[in-house]
Amino acid sequence: MKVSIPYIQNYVRKRLFLGLLGGSLLLVGLFAFALWYIIFYPGQSLMNQSLVLALVLLLSVTVVLAAMGLAGILLTLLASKRLSFLQGPMRVGVNIFFPVIIGLGKLFKIDVDRIKRSFIEVNNQMVRASVFRLAPEQLLVLVPHCLQNTECPHKITVKIDNCRRCGKCCIGNLLALRDRCGVRMGVATGGTLARKLIKDYRPRAVVAVACERDLTSGIQDSNPLPVLGVTNERPFGPCQNTFIDTGRVEDALKFFLAREGGR
Ligand code: SF4
Repeated sequence: MKVSIPYIQNYVRKRLFLGLLGGSLLLVGLFAFALWYIIFYPGQSLMNQSLVLALVLLLSVTVVLAAMGLAGILLTLLASKRLSFLQGPMRVGVNIFFPVIIGLGKLFKIDVDRIKRSFIEVNNQMVRASVFRLAPEQLLVLVPHCLQNTECPHKITVKIDNCRRCGKCCIGNLLALRDRCGVRMGVATGGTLARKLIKDYRPRAVVAVACERDLTSGIQDSNPLPVLGVTNERPFGPCQNTFIDTGRVEDALKFFLAREGGR
């Protein structure tokens, strides 16, 4: 079987996040175990013992739920099938443990963007494990303001159709894609506006273009709304004249709109 380079890269990316999640579970589990040991340390008052016991129980329940979540993520990725009954634990695993995952990654001097890219990869494959047959108007595409050419005088954040499609940035091509597919599209300058657009349009799924940082927080904020994340390219550094290959956005749209769930 011929295995392509992007496939291997995606696999390595996913493995990073899942490995760190497993490591975080172990760390918090060990912490709970250490607290458990303290409870029986001689000289502890009953009050102290009760408080620590409550904390140990809370941590233990969280770790068990997150461990089930990790198992759920692995099974979803392996079987490419949505496991409804493990959605709750998966959310616990990803959302509650995310700060621990980032902290652990920093401890091992792993680039935060790399961890977030890995998370986005895991999220995307989990979304792709479900089958969608959405009408175009049920789908919202969110794109960042930084895709717009910095010298463009048109205010596309107010209304994306203010773009004159001059070709100096990729907004024009994105609009052509929007028109061709019949989906909705909005420009978000940050999380607050993205949340507002989601509230206004009430989509059944979102295709979001952004940097690793914004995509990660957006995916977590929107949970349980399915979001396929597409990271933008930043040839001039962050937040200015960034770029997205519309083919990658189209691929994400086709997945949600395809009759057979894009598979
Ligand atoms: S395509 Fe042209 S008009 Fe549209 S946002 Fe980009 S620079 Fe402005």
